[in-house]
Amino acid sequence: MLRNSVRIARIGGISINIHVSWILIFVLVTWTLAGSYFPQNYPNWPLSLYWTVGLASSVLFFGSVLAHELAHSFVARARGLPVHDITLFIFGGVSQLSEEPQTPATEFVMALVGPLTSIVLGVCFGAVWFVARGMNEPLAALGSYLAFINVILGFFNLIPGFPLDGGRVLRSILWQATGSLQRATRWASLVGQVVAYLFILAGIWQIFTGDWVGGLWIAFIGWFLDNAASSSYRQLTVRNLLAGHKVREVMSRECPEVSVGLTLDRLVSEHMLPTGARCFPVMEGGLVRGLLTLHNIKGVSRDLWATTTVEQVMTPLEGLKRVRPDEELWAAMQNMTADGVNQLPVMDDGQLLGMLGRDNIVSFIRIKGELGI
Ligand SMILES: [Zn+2]
Repeated sequence: MLRNSVRIARIGGISINIHVSWILIFVLVTWTLAGSYFPQNYPNWPLSLYWTVGLASSVLFFGSVLAHELAHSFVARARGLPVHDITLFIFGGVSQLSEEPQTPATEFVMALVGPLTSIVLGVCFGAVWFVARGMNEPLAALGSYLAFINVILGFFNLIPGFPLDGGRVLRSILWQATGSLQRATRWASLVGQVVAYLFILAGIWQIFTGDWVGGLWIAFIGWFLDNAASSSYRQLTVRNLLAGHKVREVMSRECPEVSVGLTLDRLVSEHMLPTGARCFPVMEGGLVRGLLTLHNIKGVSRDLWATTTVEQVMTPLEGLKRVRPDEELWAAMQNMTADGVNQLPVMDDGQLLGMLGRDNIVSFIRIKGELGI
């Protein structure tokens, strides 16, 4: 689950979350529809009708984005990839996959089904407009807006820049052709960045020709696409480097243990400065009681160091996230990022085996990279 998101439902075992940025978009869309789009196109409605149809359109738009994501997720699951949740955020949605597709064919179908769902929905809403026009103006207005927005959503996602759906389709084709996922991702990301720059250039051109609101929007979408393309490429590279490796391979085993009664000034001068360690298991009678990090010490003012013991400032074991030695390194790193911590104790059967730090992973990646493994 992404940070700053709330779960609103569960559909077929997949939890549906909303990111805070999405609430802003929901309000903005409703407000634009009720306050300007419908009044301009249908000037004779009473005010309450603008808001009713505006709100209904927003909710159905939200439902359409969700249907698009559910289509991806259901195909993923049918192909044996576990999907835990879908998060709706500012530019639509993301399905959280814990694994990448195993074959080009799976990726191809999985990516294509989303935009297809949007386009089919667009056609259905078009039919609503067609039947209702001349009989029920609000219903026809709702149908035509949703037909338009779903078709746009479908075609926008078909732009062949990774990580958009179209980019994934392109990647699966390149993957099939070259046999290398890494190379296919590299090329699909490059195309993604080219598309992003075209958006930015088009936006700047529009700004200079006078439509600076529209231009800013297009440039902003380009900037977003560029970010997404480069960060998903980086992420995949790291993921490939870590694939198949376990926590026990990189954890540091020499954790300087300290006892509960030690004062902070002695900890710093006798343990921290000489060893360069930043993180200490706090022990009592051979058992781990908690963990003390540089971060805990920074919160205590200097003149209290002589009278404060490590026990008073450590993070108790109960409050600590931990990893098991046989856990996948990639999964452990994602947990660290999700919790915003830099290290996790590696424990098995209540025994502390070592510490897994972000720096351990970084040097692991660097060494592998330099040796070209
Ligand atoms: Zn999609």
